[in-house]
Amino acid sequence: MDLYQQLLEQDKQHIWHPYSALGSDLPVYPVVSASGVRLQLADGRELIDGMSSWWSAIHGYNHPELNLALENQLKSMSHVMFGGLTHPPAVELASTLVDITPAPLNSVFFSDSGSVSVEVAMKMAIQYWHDKQQTNKQKFLTLRSGYHGDTFGAMSVCDPITGMHSLFNQSLTQQVFIDSPTSPFGEACNETDLKNLTTALEQHHATLAAFILEPVVQGAGGMHFYSADYLNKARALCDEFNVLLIFDEIATGFGRTGRLFACEFSQIEPDIMCIGKALTGGYLTLAATLTNTEVAQTISNGDPGVFMHGPTFMANPLACSAANASIKILQQSNWQTKINKIESWLSAALEKCVTLTKVKDVRVLGAIAVVECMEAVDMKIIQAAFVDKGVWIRPFGKLIYLMPPYIIDQQDTEQLCNAIFEILND
Ligand SMILES: *Cc1c(COP(=O)(O)O)cnc(C)c1O
Repeated sequence: MDLYQQLLEQDKQHIWHPYSALGSDLPVYPVVSASGVRLQLADGRELIDGMSSWWSAIHGYNHPELNLALENQLKSMSHVMFGGLTHPPAVELASTLVDITPAPLNSVFFSDSGSVSVEVAMKMAIQYWHDKQQTNKQKFLTLRSGYHGDTFGAMSVCDPITGMHSLFNQSLTQQVFIDSPTSPFGEACNETDLKNLTTALEQHHATLAAFILEPVVQGAGGMHFYSADYLNKARALCDEFNVLLIFDEIATGFGRTGRLFACEFSQIEPDIMCIGKALTGGYLTLAATLTNTEVAQTISNGDPGVFMHGPTFMANPLACSAANASIKILQQSNWQTKINKIESWLSAALEKCVTLTKVKDVRVLGAIAVVECMEAVDMKIIQAAFVDKGVWIRPFGKLIYLMPPYIIDQQDTEQLCNAIFEILND
């Protein structure tokens, strides 16, 4: 049996994939290496990567500088506990993050994944109000069509329908949901959106610790783009009603939308912000929760006077080194110009999809493109069709979307877009 078949058989017997059934007959494809924007399959085929491994591999795969950063760190230490100890990669990364994120955010809590950074953000908000003697404020306001991760706290603020609330209903905290903003990106916040938000805050502020949302781009919950002015309004209302504001920038961070962080499209800053995914350039799992002095000091001076969280692999030195290198590569690249180019390539090459009967909407923002279909795609058929065309694109539901590595060129971008057009035209 060749390597390809052997990997597949053993995989099918023992291994879960994201949102999958064991032994499913949906295809999985064995990858043996990856370089630049190409994934190499075990049978020798090469695929152009349209996903950046879920928003993370922004500089492409097997990047010489990222490789070198990890090799160097490996020689001094790959891990050490963070309780009572600190190390150069963590200190450097924290100070860089404080520099590049919105000005008020100046303390950093490292964790191992995006979902955990959301749990940490939610705990910070609850602990903040606890220390202000407002122990009723333990719930969260959030948007429909949101996605914040798969752990229980994060799940409770995911979209109530696509987020599988019914399955875990008895175990999830009931949060307060409002409709996701209808005000389009680039326009002012409309009256309906403002009214929904105001009404929810008027009714529930006494029990709300924070309003948590993905700024400007809702990712896995629907790939929806909306008005940055909504964030301005949210900030003002949260201040008025004594509710903290949490931005989940795990998907949008590090240039993807055309700004370093999507909240930069607005005029305001959150009290707490989560980052992850592209933080290490897609090399290792690492996330962070940043907060302002008011929240950090209140928690630190309150009772019990410590923040109650501390993962085993907190601030892992290898992951921090990858993050330091990835941020340097980004800063030294002309990323803003590059994202603008990718945006125009994607817009131009996907325009023809609008005419297809199967297509409901095409939208592009920064290096993110979404082709929304009328009906959910058949994963078994479409996944194989993309691979046959030499591209790696992984749709979900009605959404076929692209977020390629920033190093992609025009020709590869067009090949990704053409594959979508040809398959939907078939
Ligand atoms: C992916 C994602 C998460 C969860 O991150 P994991 O690292 O998968 O736990 C949370 N929020 C948003 C917006 C995300 O895109």
